[in-house]
Amino acid sequence: MNAANKNKENPTFNWFVLKRIFQNVKAYKRIFISAFFLTILISSLGIARPILIKKILDDYISTKDLYHIQLFAGILLSTLIVEAFSQYRNAILTASLGQNIILDIRKRLFRHLLEFKHSFFDVTPVGILVTRSVSDVEALADVFSQGFIVIMGDILSLVVFLTAMFWVNWKLSIIVLFTLPLLFFATRIFQRGIKATFQKIRNLIASLNTFVQEHIQGMQVIQLFGREKEEFEKFEKLNKEHLKTNIKSIWFYSIFLPVIEILSSLAIALIILYSSLPIANVKITPGEITFFIILTSMLFRPLRMIADRLNTLQMGMVAAERVFKLMDSNEKLHRGGSFSSPLKGKVEYHDIHFRYRDDHEILKGISFTIQPGEKIAIVGTTGAGKSTVINLLGGYYAPNSGNILLDDVDIVNFKEGHLQEQIAVVLQDVFLFSDTIRNNIMMYSDNISDSEMIEASKYIGAHEFITQLPGGYNFDVKERGTQLSAGQRQMIAFLRAYLHHPAILVLDEATSNIDTETELLIQNATEKITAGRTSIIIAHRLATIKNASKIMVMEHGRIVETGTLDELIEKDGPFKLLYEQQFMTHK
Ligand code: ATP
Ligand code: MG
Repeated sequence: MNAANKNKENPTFNWFVLKRIFQNVKAYKRIFISAFFLTILISSLGIARPILIKKILDDYISTKDLYHIQLFAGILLSTLIVEAFSQYRNAILTASLGQNIILDIRKRLFRHLLEFKHSFFDVTPVGILVTRSVSDVEALADVFSQGFIVIMGDILSLVVFLTAMFWVNWKLSIIVLFTLPLLFFATRIFQRGIKATFQKIRNLIASLNTFVQEHIQGMQVIQLFGREKEEFEKFEKLNKEHLKTNIKSIWFYSIFLPVIEILSSLAIALIILYSSLPIANVKITPGEITFFIILTSMLFRPLRMIADRLNTLQMGMVAAERVFKLMDSNEKLHRGGSFSSPLKGKVEYHDIHFRYRDDHEILKGISFTIQPGEKIAIVGTTGAGKSTVINLLGGYYAPNSGNILLDDVDIVNFKEGHLQEQIAVVLQDVFLFSDTIRNNIMMYSDNISDSEMIEASKYIGAHEFITQLPGGYNFDVKERGTQLSAGQRQMIAFLRAYLHHPAILVLDEATSNIDTETELLIQNATEKITAGRTSIIIAHRLATIKNASKIMVMEHGRIVETGTLDELIEKDGPFKLLYEQQFMTHK
């Protein structure tokens, strides 16, 4: 809710945003121009109807000239058909223009998000990002299908209608104009009210998205702690607010539309009244009266629509402004370098200081060197900063001071994507996409063949359990892989890492309890994927620290001890305690 409220938009009509929206039209110039001309055609055809009817009434009905009546009725029918067809084409063109443009913007937005720093996602609720990239972008489409071109057509219709009115009878036209100030007044009130409610609705939608998404993800926790009732109440409150605001917006419409109807009837009544008065002092033909009655309602329709469409346009622009803001936020990782050689695997940290937020330093001067092919284990109590150390290696967070060198080159000088190619990370919580096992392993890489994958899978020891799943490698992993056990997920992540042949392997061992059989499987796999390559393992298992060539002990953001298992036990320092508490109990 707070994050949504933070996005206070500039309430005035923003030309800069409009200009930026229209920059996206460039690629669809032809559609835009066709729609533009069709709009002009439709506006001009609109006036043909009352003019033809007037002509039939005044010139031919009175003289009973059947031939001309039929002729003009035929012309009337043809203009109606052309008008209907043009409207149909125009609706398709403007909608496809809008849809194409939102496709482009959504793609660009998502690509942009893909490059953001992890710290951005730490503080931005997922629901907000979902709302931005789905429904806000959707609202943008309305700028094209309901907004700009249509408003332009409405304005054009108004000009044409008014000109025709004055041409036929200026006195009657002035009478119609008398009602217009009332219309503008009503429109103004309507617009102000509806804009505020629309903005509120959009903020509430973002909050609802965030709420539902978070609660579905955290459903287990909610149920475990019996918080269903409380959470439901919160949800209900949000929804009530949403309902109230929506009804308010409908209320504005329900008042506004009848008011317009009354005004238009008033104008017609005035015309009839005036025509019947002796002061009119001129002969007004039945054709003229009919012409004015038809045209008055035709004139009021675009006037009414413009108010509504200006709102749509405004809402589209509010949404666009938010989308653009997200696109402009420069939360990208800095990878401007050009280094792209394969790595041997030397890793050096030089006096790294790091904080996620300003207030609290998490790493307080971390320095170490790992030689190519060396296998080191990082141990320490929870919250010591172990995961943070490896987060920095992938470049997703930047250290506040100090340098990280790989093969003596600072990682800031690495070419875009090169770090990811050279380092494979297996995280504590394995994330699987709702896709097949195969795609989760290969991550859509073109360089890996099926047989290569299966061979690796056998080598690592994952083949057996995968083939036992229904569909084997085609088994569809549902929502975040919750159908697989923690150990199985870990094995898939191993395989994923192994197949990318990284120079450096980073492994944040899962803390969750795993049965002995899987434990052995994982231990085996760990040995195989770390063999011969620089490996940094955040260790939670005894076997891992036994096999490590060096152990680094972390405490409160510092490395307090380094050595082999035997050396550290001998020392009787901080490690000894940890060892007894964490590793000896763990088998
Ligand atoms: P564990 O053994 O439990 O995995 P760890 O040693 O890996 O612990 P880290 O995850 O590195 O610990 O966390 C170190 C500190 O940084 C913790 O105090 C944690 O609260 C904080 N921290 C971790 N991730 C973030 C984040 N994304 N934003 C802000 N603070 C964070
Ligand atoms: Mg951790």
